[in-house]
Amino acid sequence: MTQARTLAPSLFFCHNHFIAMTADSDILKAAQILRSGGLVVFPTETVYGLGANALDPSAIRKIYALKGRPTTSPLIVHVASIEQARALAADWPLEAERLARKYWPGPLTLVVPKKSIIPDDATAGLPTVGLRMPRHPVALALLREVGFPIAAPSANRFTQLSPTTAQHVREAFGDETPFLLDGGPCEVGLESTVIAVTPDGLEVLRPGMAFVEDAQEDKPDAATMQQLEDAHRSPGQHKKHYSPRTRVLLVSRGHLPRKGRGAYLWLAYNARAAFKQRMPQNADDYAAQLYATLHELDRQSFDWIAVELPPDTPEWAPIRDRLTRAAYE
Ligand code: AMP
Ligand code: MG
Repeated sequence: MTQARTLAPSLFFCHNHFIAMTADSDILKAAQILRSGGLVVFPTETVYGLGANALDPSAIRKIYALKGRPTTSPLIVHVASIEQARALAADWPLEAERLARKYWPGPLTLVVPKKSIIPDDATAGLPTVGLRMPRHPVALALLREVGFPIAAPSANRFTQLSPTTAQHVREAFGDETPFLLDGGPCEVGLESTVIAVTPDGLEVLRPGMAFVEDAQEDKPDAATMQQLEDAHRSPGQHKKHYSPRTRVLLVSRGHLPRKGRGAYLWLAYNARAAFKQRMPQNADDYAAQLYATLHELDRQSFDWIAVELPPDTPEWAPIRDRLTRAAYE
């Protein structure tokens, strides 16, 4: 990060009680790297992203290589505006326009038919593309500076926990960490809600902290689930995903394992454990803290991390989804 005195006043970003200082010159450098086909890490309000020019197939392949992500998993393409999204969509239904106007910039990804200008590498060969306009000021500044859409999955190795701070990214990639824009801790802290906009209506492919009424929760039966896994139709639908290295157990009513030294994240039922932490009672605050808490516990080599499963109500659904995947063995 560059010293404050070199910053233009417009580039002091106040973001959720955290004053992130990203220098003009850092944005320009990141833009230059993207233009020449390289990768950069940038903050969004959901999690940190590993970005490449979405219109450049060889840049996109670098994302898959660094993450170790199966090429069958499509990437989210980030845009600077609704107009830019429209220009990338082969079909932009009225529903897409309505949702974009209501939720953008913000943590909602819309899956719509793609134009051929978006390479198949970005969408795992699918005829659709997931589009999102983020609201983090650094992400928006970068998107505006480059002028092209930026494909970016979370900046972590495949199946591991998503990064919500710059430090998490450095821990994941070490010496291989690309040029990184530090925008402070992510405000939302969970990956975006993903909604497919289809002629049959709206389908939730991945729950997130943007709640879209009239969207059908996608709860496929076991056979369909298996097919989805096989097709990797949507990476958020991998059963194991978002996982720390330490074993995660979901518990209720304080029923912890008897063996081993563990950490317990609780909401309502306290219990004895080597380490305990009471989590926020409010889903937004819980989401914002969850990954940072798991990253931190993961460093402490516990035998297990037990997490009290939050209530089965709509506002906790995205958190239950990520916890269930983190605990999948
Ligand atoms: P990630 O970028 O790793 O946080 O995850 C990307 C998410 O985007 C996945 O969970 C998918 O649900 C979704 N996604 C992106 N593009 C598509 C697409 N064309 N079709 C379906 N889902 C998509
Ligand atoms: Mg990811």
